[in-house]
Amino acid sequence: MAKHDLILLALDPSNILDLMERTLRAAGFEVAVVHDKVGMDLSIQVAIPALVIVGEMFSGVDGFLISSELLERFPTLPILMYADQDRSGIAKKALNVGISDYLYPPLKLDDIVAAVNKAMNRASRLGDWLRREVRRTTSSLAEKASISESERTKLEAVISNIQDGVIVMDDHQNILLMNPAVHEIFKLEGHLFVGKHLKDVITNADLWALLSRSSEGALKYHEINFDDGRVFNAQYTPIPKIGAAITMQDISYLKELDRLKNDFIHTVSHDLRSPLTAILGYTELIERTGSLNENQHEFVHRLQSSVQHIATLINDLLDLGRLEAGFDTRREVVQLEGVLKYTVDMFDTQAIKKNIHIQVDIAPDLKPLRANPIRIRQMLDNLVGNAIKYATDGGHISISVSTHDNQLILKVEDDGPGIPQEEQGRIFEKFYRATNMVSGGIQGSGLGLAIVKSIVESHQGRVWVESTVGKGSKFFVLLPAATD
Ligand code: ADP
Repeated sequence: MAKHDLILLALDPSNILDLMERTLRAAGFEVAVVHDKVGMDLSIQVAIPALVIVGEMFSGVDGFLISSELLERFPTLPILMYADQDRSGIAKKALNVGISDYLYPPLKLDDIVAAVNKAMNRASRLGDWLRREVRRTTSSLAEKASISESERTKLEAVISNIQDGVIVMDDHQNILLMNPAVHEIFKLEGHLFVGKHLKDVITNADLWALLSRSSEGALKYHEINFDDGRVFNAQYTPIPKIGAAITMQDISYLKELDRLKNDFIHTVSHDLRSPLTAILGYTELIERTGSLNENQHEFVHRLQSSVQHIATLINDLLDLGRLEAGFDTRREVVQLEGVLKYTVDMFDTQAIKKNIHIQVDIAPDLKPLRANPIRIRQMLDNLVGNAIKYATDGGHISISVSTHDNQLILKVEDDGPGIPQEEQGRIFEKFYRATNMVSGGIQGSGLGLAIVKSIVESHQGRVWVESTVGKGSKFFVLLPAATD
């Protein structure tokens, strides 16, 4: 036991106090005797004792109260309670307060020293354990901090070196992070952009269209076009508790490939159209140049319908080419319900043949569109034509037009075979035909919905489908109403 351990005796003057003082000094401890609570507090301010022995009553104050106050300030301080006699309940009370042990007469010298040593040993073990725990927690915190620091450095290196542009911003669109690829993409001068508002740094209209529409939840992708021909695909991703990130990939080469492919299709279709018209003309002439037997008649008929099929396909391809090239600029006031009536009339015979009932609901006071009426008719023909083509005999088709927030909503609903969920995103692609239809043996080129999508988008609208296999499909078209 270290000789300089200080023991504070907070006991009223008595033989016991003298005995304890002498015994403990003899055992090599430093001893301080205090006479009241104020003296005790002063003494503790000067030096924190290694152990305190407190009387059950000390200068008129409850020893348990003094002990619990002391333990509140020094939770590991060992305290021994001295009671005049061993009364029931003292041990329990001492345990509750957190006192290490208690002494009562008759007291032997050895008992005093043993109790003091035992309490101090326990306190020192507790102290050691606490120090170890603090060291362990501190070192694991330091380790964690160094791991997260190295992770952060790694992440920064990755973001700085990737070819894609990355912008991270807070909820108010202030820049938190912007990698060098973004500087390159927007040809930005300088480097100190963090903390600035994105609008003060990048003024590109396409990027702002993406931002304003994504915060409304309407759009997550947008193409960013530059005058020098570069095209980037920008994606908006909200990041909870941070704000949002925009990533940009260079898709100029894909766009160029797409353009080459479209040019090729356009040229081939164009060149095929003239010979086809000639073939069609001559097959009609054959019938006029002399009488044909039944077989010849049948063959010429088949020839005509095949050539007609190819001619329709080619016309569709040429149409798509024109739409995608942005040549469709004709705009005039169009009443959607008026055009729809012509479409429904045109399909009347087909619907009767398949015993299909068509129901049309037009909301009153519909606003007009600013559109190309020929394209709107083409869009309606494709949607209503598909509904009839894919509907089962005796089925039901319902067409409705309504207005919502200055937009016209067209819905074409059928109770036909439906479209598998995983294919619904693809049916608007060129030449894509859903698998259940191909196996169903229904003829088609897979171009109709691609044309619908191009028409709708060239009128700043949106088209989508909701469908359940076995139950039917609902095609929706949203078109902005004409503003006066
Ligand atoms: P096509 O009808 O010439 O095959 P579309 O582009 O018009 O081409 O349609 C693409 C595909 O979408 C169709 O092949 C068919 O699988 C599916 N589809 C379109 N409309 C419907 C519909 N009303 N019901 C079920 N499937 C449909």
